[in-house]
Amino acid sequence: MRIDKFLANMGFGSRKDVKKLLKTGAVRVQGQPIKDPSTHVEPESESITVYGEEVEYKPYVYLMMNKPKGVICATEDLEHETVIDLLGEEERHYEPSPVGRLDKDTVGLLLITNDGKFNHWLMSPKHHVPKTYRALVEGHVTEEDVGAFSHGVVLDDGYVTKPATLHILEAGARSHIELILTEGKFHQVKRMFQAVGKRVLELERIKIGNLLLDPELARGEYRELTKEEIALLL
Ligand code: URA
Repeated sequence: MRIDKFLANMGFGSRKDVKKLLKTGAVRVQGQPIKDPSTHVEPESESITVYGEEVEYKPYVYLMMNKPKGVICATEDLEHETVIDLLGEEERHYEPSPVGRLDKDTVGLLLITNDGKFNHWLMSPKHHVPKTYRALVEGHVTEEDVGAFSHGVVLDDGYVTKPATLHILEAGARSHIELILTEGKFHQVKRMFQAVGKRVLELERIKIGNLLLDPELARGEYRELTKEEIALLL
């Protein structure tokens, strides 16, 4: 990896900032001052210091975002703003991707990482990592719906959903519900309610596995996951 990319990834500012830093002679690789930003380094095995302090190698970034409405879960898009566009330069240097997809109008817990194995593990249908959603639904959600979801409902393409846990939080002309799914078909929550003749008006994901959306994060904000939170997911 180039030294400028490495230092930018490790939080030493933009590539431009790093270039300036290198010029000052503050950066040493294996004890040798390095000034050329294109110098190739092996951060896993070589000692890299800035002003004499060892730079700890961190290859991966793991972020929790409170996704806002109106942005799409993609790494780049010509038309729409993406969740990656909401990240700062430091995080974007890691070239992370969203873990799975939330619809453009869905809000809430989204994980973003450049660790492909972690991403794959969470998304693999084999692992059945439960995802918990809260929704506002048009129509009176009933105990019959709870029963239907627990057995599986037939989606518009004929797919029969796996057993899902539906909790009615408040039933009325518009109902508040919580739904726990162990699979992730396209638009699944919306299509499950469609299957029982109802419409999802608002949708938020609040939990993945045992990891809850941090209530301190406003919509559009993100933060790094702690080691404990990463462990909760694996
Ligand atoms: N189910 C949906 O319908 N939409 C989402 O964004 C996530 C789950």
